[in-house]
Formats: sequence, structure tokens, C-alpha cells
Amino acid sequence: MLTEASYVCAHCGEEIVVSVDLSAGSMQEYVEDCPVCCRPHLIRVRVGAGGQVELESEAESE
Ligand SMILES: [Zn+2]
Repeated sequence: MLTEASYVCAHCGEEIVVSVDLSAGSMQEYVEDCPVCCRPHLIRVRVGAGGQVELESEAESE
């Protein structure tokens, strides 16, 4: 089950929309490169009981 959520890139400030796989669990953490500035962030996904998705991003230094 996929849903869309967005986060703001900690490096360039762009809003990035990503697909979140809800079946992967209610707490997810992964590193993804920003499609705009290509710098990596740590993305944290939290899925609430009602299926609402919260995304947090943190800059990953290389
Ligand atoms: Zn960026």
C-alpha cells in the first residue's frame, strides 16, 4: 500500500513528494538523495493509527 507524503529538503528548502510504503511499518528510516540538489538526507517516516503519514528529514553530512 503506497501513499504520498512530502518533506522539505534540509539542504535546498524544496518540498519533495515521496511515495511511502505503509506496509513497511509505522516507523521507517532511510537515507535518500534529494532529487533537486542530490544531497543525502535521513528520512524518518511515522504512520499514525489513522494512516496519516508524518515525514521528518535530517541533513546527512557526507
Ligand atoms: Zn535538496
